Amino acid sequence: MRRKVIAGNWKMHFSPLETEKFLNELVPLLENKAGLDWIVFPPSVSLFKAKEKLNKSFIKFGAQNCHQEQKGAFTGEISALMLKELGCQYCLVGHSERRQYFNETSMACNLKIKALINQGITPIYCVGETLKEREEGKTEKVLKEQITSGLKDINLNDSLVVAYEPVWAIGTGVVATPQQVEEAHKLIRLCLADTVFNQKRAAEISILYGGSVKPENSQELSMLSQVDGFLVGGASMVAKSFAQIGQIPL
Ligand code: PEP
Repeated sequence: MRRKVIAGNWKMHFSPLETEKFLNELVPLLENKAGLDWIVFPPSVSLFKAKEKLNKSFIKFGAQNCHQEQKGAFTGEISALMLKELGCQYCLVGHSERRQYFNETSMACNLKIKALINQGITPIYCVGETLKEREEGKTEKVLKEQITSGLKDINLNDSLVVAYEPVWAIGTGVVATPQQVEEAHKLIRLCLADTVFNQKRAAEISILYGGSVKPENSQELSMLSQVDGFLVGGASMVAKSFAQIGQIPL
């Protein structure tokens, strides 16, 4: 049985003080919702505050990025080893904003994913096509490339979550249609079965949808057989909206 996950990517929002204030509001709202895996992704400077505030909560937290090396002369970077010590159980890898603004390739993501797995941190690997790629009929090719290179040499028992995030739907207010989501998730699962794992293991991997998810559209998308939860940006920074998005069938 696949785990249902509701993950909130705060991007470069919420300082430590703002994180404290936000979690004071969010934690009580999620009180009776322990059946899902709730994860928040604060910016790295706020991770320690999240650890402090979520100490006794079932809500987990993770980082938005990491470096592939454990330590060294990589100014400004943070390693998976450091994230582990901070209590991170998850880390986003390959978010489209990192691919777009920091030139992160699927091959670079592969190194980060392996570094995280070595530390026992679950990567949430983000994949998705741009509008141009979709319009040119390249969605399948792009997703396959991102999955095969990003997850190269990952072991059968390694912990992993995948997020399908069409770039054209992120932060735009344009949400993918249920048909587009179901097709892409099926394709990703097939690719996981054929090139990364096997059919049995691929069937166990949670695949989240991300891209302008809000309480108003999450219900319909959550009914899809291939959708195992959501990676939410904007709406995850409004406590009530985030909590409402989690009202999905288990
Ligand atoms: C995201 O940042 O991963 C995301 C899906 O953002 P939004 O929900 O704002 O589109």
